[in-house]
Amino acid sequence: MRAAVLEAYGEPLSIESVEDPEPEPHGVVVDVEACGICRSDWHAWQGHGEWADDQVPIGQILGHEPAGTVARVGDRVSRFEPGDRVAIPFNLGEGSCPQCRNGHGNVCEDGYALGFEETVPGAFAEQVGVPHADFNAVALPDGVSTTEAAALGCRYVTAFHALAHRADLEAGDWVAVHGCGGLGLAAVQIAAALGANVAAVDIREDPLELATELGADATVTAGNGVDVPAEIESATDGGAHVSVDALGRAETCRNSVDCLRTRGTHVQIGLTTDAERGEVSLPIDEITRWDVTVVGSRGMPPSRYDELLRLIASGRLEPDALVTREVGLEDVSDRLAAMSEYETRGVEVVTEL
Ligand SMILES: [Zn+2]
Ligand SMILES: [Zn+2]
Repeated sequence: MRAAVLEAYGEPLSIESVEDPEPEPHGVVVDVEACGICRSDWHAWQGHGEWADDQVPIGQILGHEPAGTVARVGDRVSRFEPGDRVAIPFNLGEGSCPQCRNGHGNVCEDGYALGFEETVPGAFAEQVGVPHADFNAVALPDGVSTTEAAALGCRYVTAFHALAHRADLEAGDWVAVHGCGGLGLAAVQIAAALGANVAAVDIREDPLELATELGADATVTAGNGVDVPAEIESATDGGAHVSVDALGRAETCRNSVDCLRTRGTHVQIGLTTDAERGEVSLPIDEITRWDVTVVGSRGMPPSRYDELLRLIASGRLEPDALVTREVGLEDVSDRLAAMSEYETRGVEVVTEL
């Protein structure tokens, strides 16, 4: 099969012919019909993560936001058969550890990160293997297309889990979203659909216009010395109840914490770059003084996809509204390079494999 392989950090991915994957006894192989291109791919492609012992190995097939149709199943798989349409979470569990058994498969103690580890080659390829498929794969309802499911990627599900489960968002709350890339725009649309008021922040006008189309009530253009927390406090009449750093830079993280009102919740969903190397200084005394909550969030347990898919099937959430471009496998390197200059807008999906 054809696959896009990481041969050197920061260099174009190599389109190669590689062996077709075979399902493990507990796994399935999926014909990939769509796979989102994500800033996490960009981080991997840049060789980030060395500081956290999390650098993607050379030779990796990238791509972690796939949806498609089951092609082959292992002997021990009972929930799926060839022809079933599925979405695949990027953070795969093995299904039996205490986290998996308690509904937190996204933080499995012995899990896999699809497309980031040698044992789980990614989905910038014609086919992808999915281990522990009964636990991990998510059956798609008729009303959700594979392109739409790929647009869920890691970003949309991460934003949903962050807002609906980790921040415990309530209708009428003000939500600030810092950084309006694919992850931030997903947070904007989801927060609005869950009944919140949304203030979107970015340094670029273009994604802020898209944020407004997706339901943002207020926008703040950052940069040029703008005091972002002050702007948000004014737009939200006292600060955000929930604030999300969807970018992962020291400045966006700090602004997110600083723009909260008393007892607010900051949710970190963006990963840092090699400028921060995973470390950002925060106003701990303020966090303590005002009962502020700081949480992290990554992916979503496979057992909770149903909540999100029901909202999509009913038309209340429209992840395909974030899709701005559909490309072929050989275009992935160009689109990753465009991310270096923050030139991409919304969510881009590979649909020609
Ligand atoms: Zn587990
Ligand atoms: Zn992703």
